[in-house]
Amino acid sequence: MRFPRVKAEHRPFRTMDGTVRIGGEIYGLAAEIDDPGGWVWAALCLLDGRRGPQEVAARLVLMFPGLGAAEARGVVDDLLASGYLEEAAAAPPPRGLTARELDRYSRNQAFFRGVDLVPGHSAWETQLALKQARVVVVGLGGTGSHAAWSLAAIGVGRLHCVDPDLVELSNLNRQLLYSEADVGRPKAALAQARLSRINSDIVVTSARHRVTCEADLRSLVRGYDALALCADEPRGEGIRVWASRACAAAGVPWAGGGYNGPLVTVGVFDPPNGACYECVAAAEQTRRAEGGVPDLGGGPGVTGASAGISGHLVAQAIISLVTGVPEVPPGYVHGVNLLSPDHHVYARHPARPGCATCFGP
Ligand SMILES: [Zn+2]
Repeated sequence: MRFPRVKAEHRPFRTMDGTVRIGGEIYGLAAEIDDPGGWVWAALCLLDGRRGPQEVAARLVLMFPGLGAAEARGVVDDLLASGYLEEAAAAPPPRGLTARELDRYSRNQAFFRGVDLVPGHSAWETQLALKQARVVVVGLGGTGSHAAWSLAAIGVGRLHCVDPDLVELSNLNRQLLYSEADVGRPKAALAQARLSRINSDIVVTSARHRVTCEADLRSLVRGYDALALCADEPRGEGIRVWASRACAAAGVPWAGGGYNGPLVTVGVFDPPNGACYECVAAAEQTRRAEGGVPDLGGGPGVTGASAGISGHLVAQAIISLVTGVPEVPPGYVHGVNLLSPDHHVYARHPARPGCATCFGP
């Protein structure tokens, strides 16, 4: 970087014991740096976009007589590699985004700027990656309609929506893509039309189709960059196992969401990067005798809030899978318990030795 400065979102502060905290209050984003000599703090103050790294290092040497030139450069280099700095002169947006898209997605860009700690990475590149992404959403009920809306709104370039069902009145407490006039009509075509009206800068397609087997799902995900699995039928050794095996065979990452009453979860998988769904589920089954177990399957009780959280957890996982921002290694289930704000559902387990999905046949 020629003239680096600390990103506004990551403005640092010092604690009473001399530790420098940078990246704000967000766990996983912020870092605490031991700074007994005050060098790091001084470097951060000097990194204001008006001088280059060499000048900052030279000024540090002048400010702190005990600090060698190599050490000073090391302090600056560590900060440059941290992802908390940006080039003062903002890079032009990459080719491939129109002026209308730059306006439409400006809040996305601000979000990605804050959560992306890849040094030198432009948030507009993340938006471009979304534009180039192809995502298939299977299931357009409570979870799926929120997930599909979220993915369309954020600008996923190609979205394919799959569902076999007709809209029922009892769907309308949570399925935000449909209205009373839609009762009795196929969800897939309605979702396509609604999403196209929400974002005409993307391509939305649909199919009225019921997934009936693993091979069926495998042909559905072919040519896509990720699967958002928002259907939960058939249960048990059903659609999630099909998704796990079909996606692994096709090399397609996937996220599956659902709810069991107030327990709302998403599973995110891309073996061999992390264990597959069956490995994580098997490990949780083993724990069942000891207590609770995250359950991806849904019960009949659901509200707009619980379905919405589920759908948006899926959408967030898909965004991370297709852009790498924020970077969250797959192979886990997480979620929330709406009865207990202090209960974070979380399961990550190693792959089972010999698992064909994780390691190949
Ligand atoms: Zn596995």
